[in-house]
Amino acid sequence: MNYILPLLSVLLGFGVALWWQPQGKKNLKLLLAFSGSFLLSLTVINLLPEVYADGAQFHTGVFIMVGIVFQIILEFFSKGAEHGHVHGHEKIQIMPWSLFISLCLHALLEGFPVGHHQHLAFGIAIHHFPIAMILTLFFLKAGMSKKLLWVFMIGFALMTPLGTVLADSAPMLKTYYQEITAVVIGILFHISSTIIFESSEGHKFNVAKITVIIFGVIMASLL
Ligand SMILES: [Zn+2]
Ligand SMILES: [Zn+2]
Repeated sequence: MNYILPLLSVLLGFGVALWWQPQGKKNLKLLLAFSGSFLLSLTVINLLPEVYADGAQFHTGVFIMVGIVFQIILEFFSKGAEHGHVHGHEKIQIMPWSLFISLCLHALLEGFPVGHHQHLAFGIAIHHFPIAMILTLFFLKAGMSKKLLWVFMIGFALMTPLGTVLADSAPMLKTYYQEITAVVIGILFHISSTIIFESSEGHKFNVAKITVIIFGVIMASLL
């Protein structure tokens, strides 16, 4: 389950966008808002207590901040693809390497704590599903070749399970599990609050949006 869910969600988002090509931006925005709130709740409810289990430590907080800054730097290269942001009108004929590498690094790191937190597999799956859809629709519009599109999306899909496998098997990563998890918490903090923020239009009160956000919190606390 830990490996399958994050993998399938990307492939499913890719497939839906590729063969169905949905046009409704509104539902996608709501799904994004829900995924952001669900992911943020899981992070606060499950992950955060774990890294502070041995008592409050100064370096844990520093590692969380490192994660936040690291994600901000990644978004400089990916232009925000991790939270469902795509830019540019140019045709894409070659592999968009900086986008691909930064997105993969992000997805890989997110996979690290999944072995210890099964719920997180759901959170990441729900977060990567709309991202995979948005990216696929964007690449299709940019005229990216089908072959390149498949390579990109399969690479992206494999990253989170790969992170989970690595975290559970590499001895060095096991030693620094606590620190790495703190970094991932920082990444998740930044990504999920950005998703919630960017899925809104000009800070207008939106009943549908606030409903899915509250629903995300409830779902995460019930898991
Ligand atoms: Zn953005
Ligand atoms: Zn992610």
